[in-house]
Amino acid sequence: MSDMRARIKEALEEFDMHFFNDRLETFKDWPFQENCECTPEKLAAAGFVYCGTENEPDLVKCYVCLKELDGWEPEDDPWKEHVGHSGACPFLKYENIMGITLKEFCELEKARMMNHCMKGIKHSKAEWSEKRDEIQEKIFGKQKQ
Ligand SMILES: [Zn+2]
Repeated sequence: MSDMRARIKEALEEFDMHFFNDRLETFKDWPFQENCECTPEKLAAAGFVYCGTENEPDLVKCYVCLKELDGWEPEDDPWKEHVGHSGACPFLKYENIMGITLKEFCELEKARMMNHCMKGIKHSKAEWSEKRDEIQEKIFGKQKQ
């Protein structure tokens, strides 16, 4: 499967992340559950979904701009962290996400799909650059950087 096709499939599978409860459900293994600022509820309300791994147990990503954040401290405010690290994210325009219009929802979905495609393009571009460098090295030998 091509990388772009995989990105689009992933984007379609993540459609449900538009819904607060679906985002909240991803935080079952989140390390900060209570008595802190970065609770699952606040993270989900700020547009984040949990995608932690064994090596990065506090990794979250915004389902719209796809910005990934880890290294959370109990006093970190998820909304402020989102603004600080990805201020142009369209999700941040809607502090009351439940009150958005259908047109605004469609704009949010369009931005989300575009971000998935751009991530795929950046990844493909990096792969092609690597291949180009390999071929140049075979033809011309190792070049000084
Ligand atoms: Zn975002």
